[in-house]
Amino acid sequence: MKKYQVNQEGYYGEFGGAYIPEVLKPRIDELRNTYLQVLEDESFQREFHQLLRDYVGRPSPLYLAHRLSEKYGCKIYLKREDLNHTGAHKINNAIGQALLAKRMGKKHIIAETGAGQHGVATATVCALMDMKCTIFMGKTDMERQRVNVEKMKMLGAEVVPATSGTMTLNDAVNEALQYWCSHAEDAYYLIGSAVGPHPYPDMVARLQSVISEEIRKQLMEQEGRDYPDYLIACVGGGSNAAGTIYHYLDDERVKIVLAEGGGKGLETNQTAATMLLGKTGILHGAKTLIIQNEKGEPEEAYSISPGLDYPGVGPLYAHLTQQKRASVFAINDDEAIRAARLLTRLEGIIPALESSHALGALEKMDFHPTDIVVLTVSGRGDKDIETYLNYGK
Ligand SMILES: *Cc1c(COP(=O)(O)O)cnc(C)c1O
Repeated sequence: MKKYQVNQEGYYGEFGGAYIPEVLKPRIDELRNTYLQVLEDESFQREFHQLLRDYVGRPSPLYLAHRLSEKYGCKIYLKREDLNHTGAHKINNAIGQALLAKRMGKKHIIAETGAGQHGVATATVCALMDMKCTIFMGKTDMERQRVNVEKMKMLGAEVVPATSGTMTLNDAVNEALQYWCSHAEDAYYLIGSAVGPHPYPDMVARLQSVISEEIRKQLMEQEGRDYPDYLIACVGGGSNAAGTIYHYLDDERVKIVLAEGGGKGLETNQTAATMLLGKTGILHGAKTLIIQNEKGEPEEAYSISPGLDYPGVGPLYAHLTQQKRASVFAINDDEAIRAARLLTRLEGIIPALESSHALGALEKMDFHPTDIVVLTVSGRGDKDIETYLNYGK
């Protein structure tokens, strides 16, 4: 039984759907009527997997972290998405959607970006596939993330500053959607996480599901069984987590543990703990859990990690939280930094700040010595070195 997958109407339980302006309906319908057929097509699969292998460098290793395992008294495997080309899992989705866009006859890709990671992945793929690329990014974020802006420009993308609201991710999404409304015929909107109107959350989950497909094979080889006791991943919108849990959603032997950005603490209003604190509402085309004020407007989310400070979350996670299929931990800034320093010293791996939140969850759990844990290291920490060095100074 598939209890946790999306249904025909695009809902995960009561969450999801497609709440969009009239002008976008034909484009979303077009996408909904095309995506499954294309994704399951043999020639798509061949091209996608060839690029994942030869361009991204997949399969990413499943590494038994000996010293980390010893510290927590169980067997911890790290799924090394940090070793992918461009340094994170985001490239899996960007390649898949760009291949889909090409098959739909679109030559112009638009995307939003917060810290710039999804923007860089998208610009990379557009260079590779010779497609026009327009990236919307909050003006404040552009100032904070200069290097990523320069990378996108070098890759040939046009970076458009979003100047509404707080000039961050939320505003970049709104302006990208507005632009899409007026260029809907020829542009393809490449969403970077498991969020947005149906079919995006399901499509992104399917494209990232290569992560759990590999985990199954790799665990079989290394452990003689194809499932772990625990899966742990961080959640911003939920794409690396979706990839990690996809093939295990309905396997109740596997416990799912999700880490979100606690920021400065749940009791402060500087947090991104959407699953623990959010209330039901509609954001960027989907019904989901949202951190909002009394008037029902989304509040600005805060986390030290640039990939986790989104006031909403993918509808799948609202459902998993409500159904108690997943355990959710809010990991505060200081806990994430501590976890990153620990992994660096124990294993010689500097994780992305986002991934450090998943590592921070280990501290809050009790393990049995025979437990097999798979934790996804969603990205590498090169982009976060300054934060790691300066924190607490
Ligand atoms: C963007 C990003 C995330 C958060 O996005 P999800 O869609 O929740 O995976 C996590 N880790 C890294 C390294 C990222 O770049």
